[in-house]
Amino acid sequence: MNLINKIKNHQTIELLQDANKITIAEHGKQITLERAIFLSWWCDKGDCAFCYMSSQKPKIKEPEKARRKVESILAEAEITRRMGWNIEFLSGGYGSFKTPEIKNIAKKIFSITGKPVWLNLGITKELEIYGDEIAGITGAVEIANPDLHQSICPSKSLEDIIEMLELAGEFGFKKAITIILGLGEKPEDTKYLWNLIEEMGIDRVTFYSLNPHKDTIYENSPQPASLYYANVVAATRIKFPLLEIVTGTWIDNLANIGPLILAGANGLTKFPLFKMYGTRYGKRVEEEVKWAGRYLQGTFTDLEILQESNVQHADLEPFIKRYIDGITKNVKK
Ligand code: SF4
Repeated sequence: MNLINKIKNHQTIELLQDANKITIAEHGKQITLERAIFLSWWCDKGDCAFCYMSSQKPKIKEPEKARRKVESILAEAEITRRMGWNIEFLSGGYGSFKTPEIKNIAKKIFSITGKPVWLNLGITKELEIYGDEIAGITGAVEIANPDLHQSICPSKSLEDIIEMLELAGEFGFKKAITIILGLGEKPEDTKYLWNLIEEMGIDRVTFYSLNPHKDTIYENSPQPASLYYANVVAATRIKFPLLEIVTGTWIDNLANIGPLILAGANGLTKFPLFKMYGTRYGKRVEEEVKWAGRYLQGTFTDLEILQESNVQHADLEPFIKRYIDGITKNVKK
């Protein structure tokens, strides 16, 4: 039976068993924690039907003020390093920083973490400027069905995203895409995703489940069922054994983590990090990983590790302290 029929026919146990076997054989048992670092809270597209930024656009009168301070971005990178997390990508809305500014931030982050950083900053052709500080380019596809894509993300065409990823490949960067489940797609639509992965030579997919934001058309929509989410991830893992898969889970859906790991996730993302770190929610993530039979790279609970300063970036300490103070306050609540 083909994989899409297995998704449709609820053959979850079979899909998870096969996917889990493949994942352990190809990737081992390590699970990473991934942090998307936002550069700004503004997007000049602002019309994707599901997106929080689209609900904020009319409220932001001075977009330049939605840019984050560079020191704050770097402090977040440093604290992420202390925790042993990966930076999933630099993200943020369209049109907030100019390309040379982004390069500069990426270079500084590279010097902090020692790892080149992924970008997920919208559609651009200005890629030739980047070098060793960049690992890869992410296309925010969101939904691979071309008809649905057109109506859900009217200002970022699939063709343009594909063109950017092709260019990224020509410059030697890795290629990633993001996909949101629960936007109205059908199991059959998974074929569009798989075609894209195959044709574009995609190295990494980040799956998210719909997070229904107030003031969007999805405000009253349910999040996708946990086993549907796991089935799609598992079928994708079986189809692409070497693909890096990151799965997103919001704080209200932590029970998704175990099934998603069995389905083939290599990394976990989308957490409200500073609210969860060191709390029972952070501990719960660690427990989910343990009971899926995996090891966590880094920590979601160790408070002492946050104090390990980085002498080369001592100038960031006041900004880092703010994050640590926020975490400590949450833990004490
Ligand atoms: S382009 Fe990205 S940030 Fe802007 S509205 Fe769409 S999903 Fe949101």
